[in-house]
Amino acid sequence: MRFLLSVWRARRGGVDPWTAQREVSVLYARFYAALLGGILLTYQLQRRMPLLMFAFFSYWWPQIVLCVRSDCRQPLKPEFVLGTSVARLALPLYVYACPSNLLRVQPNLTLCAGLVAYVGLQCGLLLAQHWWGPRCFIPKQARNTPYGGSIAAANDIETSEGSRECVICMAQVDVSDKSDRAVTPCTHVFHRSCLERWLSYKHDCPTCRRALPPL
Ligand SMILES: [Zn+2]
Ligand SMILES: [Zn+2]
Repeated sequence: MRFLLSVWRARRGGVDPWTAQREVSVLYARFYAALLGGILLTYQLQRRMPLLMFAFFSYWWPQIVLCVRSDCRQPLKPEFVLGTSVARLALPLYVYACPSNLLRVQPNLTLCAGLVAYVGLQCGLLLAQHWWGPRCFIPKQARNTPYGGSIAAANDIETSEGSRECVICMAQVDVSDKSDRAVTPCTHVFHRSCLERWLSYKHDCPTCRRALPPL
């Protein structure tokens, strides 16, 4: 609870302890209400178990969507993703694939194959996000990054050759290479790789100190 409180306060930008505690209590209440509601709903919908199984095994989607929306690096390690998925699949696979299971459920191999494929797809997306970036599977035109501003709008000091200097590494930024340049919302230009490293320590602009969104 204390750990959760500190995380909550850090995320909410230092609200006072009482407000944070009240907000976490509301969160807890909602969680248990949803859990109870879920159990009752599952009991009511027993006959539609195959459909429910797919709903239960949609647990990676929020993480995938969150990373796409915030454009943050995927924080879950591949070992964790694969280990958790396999451990969670073990029980339904036993119940639906073992002919003499303890619950005496009729084996349903199609459901098993479907579940494995469905979880596999989510794992694939998570691993792709981990290795190739959170938005790697989204077409380039559909991505809107706050760092894609035009170089002409940048208000850094221009050198005599018309190029810009990255104040992090003090080297020239190749303005024609879109893949290795980042224009911040406060219109300062850096090497993408330099800014990425910088943002892992600080969340403000190296030039003007304004707060920056994740890269
Ligand atoms: Zn640089
Ligand atoms: Zn700036």
